[in-house]
Amino acid sequence: MQIPILDLKAQYANIKDEVIQAISDVCDNQAFILGPAVAEFEEKVAAYCNSKYAIGVSSGTDALLVSLMALDIKPGDEVITTPFTFFATAGSIVRLGAKPVFVDVDADSLNIDPSAIEQKITDKTRAIIPVHLFGQIAQMKAITEIAKRHNLAVIEDAAQAIGASQDGIKAGNLGDCGCFSFYPTKNLGGFGDGGLVTTNREDIAQKIKALRDHGQSPRYFYKVIGGNFRLDGIQGAVLNVKLRYLDGWNEKRRQNAALYDSLLADSPVKTPKISADNVSIYHQYTITTPERDKLQQFLAENNIGSAIFYPKPLHLQDCFSDLGYRPGDLPIAEQLCKEVLSLPIYSELATDQIEYVAKTVRKYYKMS
Ligand SMILES: *Cc1c(COP(=O)(O)O)cnc(C)c1O
Repeated sequence: MQIPILDLKAQYANIKDEVIQAISDVCDNQAFILGPAVAEFEEKVAAYCNSKYAIGVSSGTDALLVSLMALDIKPGDEVITTPFTFFATAGSIVRLGAKPVFVDVDADSLNIDPSAIEQKITDKTRAIIPVHLFGQIAQMKAITEIAKRHNLAVIEDAAQAIGASQDGIKAGNLGDCGCFSFYPTKNLGGFGDGGLVTTNREDIAQKIKALRDHGQSPRYFYKVIGGNFRLDGIQGAVLNVKLRYLDGWNEKRRQNAALYDSLLADSPVKTPKISADNVSIYHQYTITTPERDKLQQFLAENNIGSAIFYPKPLHLQDCFSDLGYRPGDLPIAEQLCKEVLSLPIYSELATDQIEYVAKTVRKYYKMS
């Protein structure tokens, strides 16, 4: 049996006719930049996330960048975030001349540890970017309480968490704004790059709408300097189709995760820990084991794809060496980088495929 880490062709086969029709409509309209398909998508995502506003942008990275711009993050400002995330979370902070201040993660949720945030706050701190890693929302009650006490903005990096909720509140709706990515491998993936910002604050929504189009408002009049952060019509059209399937796909991922949980419960690997107040969308199903590299090789020998998100924490990346972090500074994130392994979790997986993966993990540990 051959099981890739992700099979986007299987998803496409199920929706091909609808998607082709939607793309064809955009071609007929020749509305390639923003336009009606993007406007419809923004309306639908706002309703889906229970947010007042949703603004489509060119990528998840640009969603973060434009959010920081809208919040007036400037050179010299400090922004607190996690070192155990995709590069863009911190890259976007540095691109504005601000300084990322990394706080270690919690070993169970893999998300930023709220109890370690307050000691890193200085008079330069302006914002916190919690990341909802692998589809589970960070501990937002504690984070927003700290933010309120210190008058800090909160930007959710929800790139991996569209549809996830905490106490019934959807991702993107738990801070000042939420940043989403439609990179093709995300739970809601476009046919190219795409992103979106959700917010309940009208001031932020208006700023981001201007900033994504060079800062113009009205047309050809510029009070601020933005960029070209617009979402394509074809992406809006594809995403409109896919959004209808998202809850079903996310539910299937949860069922797949539950099956892995039960099949691996007595094995030495640590399975994902989802807190009782959270509904995860399992963007990844990530196990941890000190024998990660050998297990990954054994899976590969048995034709099972797996992936390491992430092999090196951001505070130790070469490009951030001037920040002065040393190995051992954020020990939990550093340990996780040596132990995490993501298994196939996509919605189209069949039960016997999940059983084969779990059986192969057990076989590695010489379990029946
Ligand atoms: C994917 C991702 C991004 C960046 O999104 P792009 O659309 O690829 O630019 C940012 N943060 C996290 C946590 C991500 O997973």
